[in-house]
Amino acid sequence: MSALLKVEGLRVEIARRGRVMTAIDDVSFEIAAGEILGVVGESGAGKSVTGTAVLGLLERPAFQAAGRILFDGRRIDTLDEDAMRALRGREIAAVFQDPLTSLDPLMTIGDQLTETIRTHLDLTQAEAVERAARLLAEVGIPAPRERLASYPHEMSGGMRQRVVLALAFSCEPRLIIADEPTTALDVSIQAQILDLLRAMCRERGTAVMLVTHDMGVIAEVADRVAVMYAGRLVEVGPTQSLLAEAAHPYTRGLMGSIPDMHRRDVELAQIPGSMPRPDAPVPGCAFHPRCGQALPRCAVERPLTFTAGASEVACWLADPAARSAA
Ligand code: SF4
Repeated sequence: MSALLKVEGLRVEIARRGRVMTAIDDVSFEIAAGEILGVVGESGAGKSVTGTAVLGLLERPAFQAAGRILFDGRRIDTLDEDAMRALRGREIAAVFQDPLTSLDPLMTIGDQLTETIRTHLDLTQAEAVERAARLLAEVGIPAPRERLASYPHEMSGGMRQRVVLALAFSCEPRLIIADEPTTALDVSIQAQILDLLRAMCRERGTAVMLVTHDMGVIAEVADRVAVMYAGRLVEVGPTQSLLAEAAHPYTRGLMGSIPDMHRRDVELAQIPGSMPRPDAPVPGCAFHPRCGQALPRCAVERPLTFTAGASEVACWLADPAARSAA
């Protein structure tokens, strides 16, 4: 399958008080048309920064220092602001954790939907209103025509996130960057929004980069998983095989954090220690201070990426040379 989105050797740096820190380091991945890629890791791993770079929304002091981002074979990280704005909303849409980031509190949801639709599609106002009402019905908003006149504050958090999905899909984008789209919602509502996102994507063949700290969300919707740690990709593989047999010790640690819906009494496993910050990088493998399987070389040599089963993994334990020597 050819890639719809291709990120090659992405490096994002942050320049602050005369120092340059690395937030994203040599990150490469692809998303095929219609595929849902879950990007997972703890807070600060670089997931959101990667999504922001794809959207062309990095802001100073963060900047892209190296790498390329290609959408449908065309390089987009070098586009000017107008061209990127035209691409966003039309071909690439975004869904953020807080619906109020995407919704204007001073505009009715009908006006927001029709404005977005008419900015990107050649439709009359009446046609845009018709499309907006259809979208609201599709995302499960009761009495959609009447709701067009509502303001965001007149809706619950779950309903607002449904409106954000309607807005994201309003111009039939080919890729959606969804950053923690359900984190702010109650657990029961989370499942509904994830089901809706997956169903709408499957129906339209829309690809998704789903950024989350929650392995449970990944297990629910993603076709493939990219695990990030301290600004690097540490494991990428198909969801089912990765859930069944994760190769990287960090991924296995995250797997311990999938809550078991039937065992509310069980405490979630925590990975001891914390992730290094960009201003205090760790040599070798960035995970080595927290890794229960670290080898002597892990503290000094940055791991290369190896194939382990169906996954690509950046860990010395997967080094075939080391395994054959053992
Ligand atoms: Fe652990 Fe070494 Fe693998 Fe890093 S490279 S995850 S420290 S075994």
